[in-house]
Amino acid sequence: MPPTTLENATCTFCGCVCDNIGLEADGDRIVKTKRACGLGEAWFKNHTAERLYPDALIDGKPASVDEAVEAAADYLYQANMPLVYGLSNITCEAQRKAVALAELVGGVVDSHTSL
Ligand code: SF4
Repeated sequence: MPPTTLENATCTFCGCVCDNIGLEADGDRIVKTKRACGLGEAWFKNHTAERLYPDALIDGKPASVDEAVEAAADYLYQANMPLVYGLSNITCEAQRKAVALAELVGGVVDSHTSL
């Protein structure tokens, strides 16, 4: 079976979010990258499409995504001042959604850079 190739993949390892990465996969594993820096290459090569974990966890127990979304909504609804935190390895579009969510639930936003 020939390797699967993809041009212009997006690396979300760091804030640069390079979107011109070439990838070559052998089955579930990425075996070659083009135009990625050393960090990006390591990030791509150590991620697979294998399903090693359940779709979601609630209190440490496997759950469906729908159940997890409902549980998350309940936590947010009951919280006094929810913190939307992280945002370092996600796209601008996802950051925009996170800020909108914080505004919707009356929460605050912080990133890992505050450490
Ligand atoms: S390829 Fe390197 S510089 Fe570009 S997003 Fe990935 S880690 Fe960052």
